[in-house]
Amino acid sequence: MALIAGIDVGGTRVKSMLSDPDGSVLLSHSASTPARPGAGVVDVIADTVAALLESARAEGIDGVLAAVGAVVPGLVDEATGSATWSANLGWRDLPLRQRLQERFDVPVATGHDVRAGLLAEFHHGAAQGAPDALFVALGTGIASALLAGGRVVAGSEWTGEVGHVIVERDGPVCGCGRHGCLEAVASAAALGRAWRHLGREGDAETLCRAVEDGDPEAIRIWQGAIDHLVQVIAPVCAAAGTRLLLIGGGLALAGTTLLDPLRDGLVHAIGHERVTVTQAALGDRAAALGATLLALEATA
Ligand SMILES: [Zn+2]
Repeated sequence: MALIAGIDVGGTRVKSMLSDPDGSVLLSHSASTPARPGAGVVDVIADTVAALLESARAEGIDGVLAAVGAVVPGLVDEATGSATWSANLGWRDLPLRQRLQERFDVPVATGHDVRAGLLAEFHHGAAQGAPDALFVALGTGIASALLAGGRVVAGSEWTGEVGHVIVERDGPVCGCGRHGCLEAVASAAALGRAWRHLGREGDAETLCRAVEDGDPEAIRIWQGAIDHLVQVIAPVCAAAGTRLLLIGGGLALAGTTLLDPLRDGLVHAIGHERVTVTQAALGDRAAALGATLLALEATA
């Protein structure tokens, strides 16, 4: 049987899976991402594929590797297969697809983790059959991907980088070095920081529970973040005519406490009711499933 490897190199975990040519997952792995691997990410991916094949043999799965798909965060140029920049993982201008292709004598596909996640949501998840959707991942950072006319938009390596749009002049400092980026005020990490800044304990999840308990200070922080999200998301939805907003990442676990006021804000901002806001369905498996789909496309 032909085996398809899908690898998602995340900021903290490398998630990987081996699938059959129909895209059915045969086995999956998760391991810690080495600290700032830089160009060594090529070795990380090659070792991960080797470990998957080893597990397959151990489980009596008879097959040969037919394609590899690998997705990474940061700036990715899909046209050239270059991983342009990742602040957290420490690479710059890495010709990822080329380097991986030198390691494997099967087709290799590379991509961006959030765009791959949306591709998976389109095929198997919450955007199934939708002609248009915006996927916004709210985790340590904020990134987005846009589906338009049934295709995931990949214009340049800057596509989807909504997290670094400035929404608050002189706001909190962002990982990019500027002040008041959306990511610095409305990511799960930023909400946790704002909460602790008030002398409270915990993280965004604790804050969310305080919102549900009616804590006025918690509600002020929460609603402020939602207003900033709307400020950035609404123009994208208006320009692209997007009627489905998928929220992923850790903050999506807040459920209706986040999704309902976010939808209210969006409806108000864009001036019509034809917008649905929902939680992404595939959770932290989305990007590895998307990498698998990219690998399958590469074999077609
Ligand atoms: Zn920034």
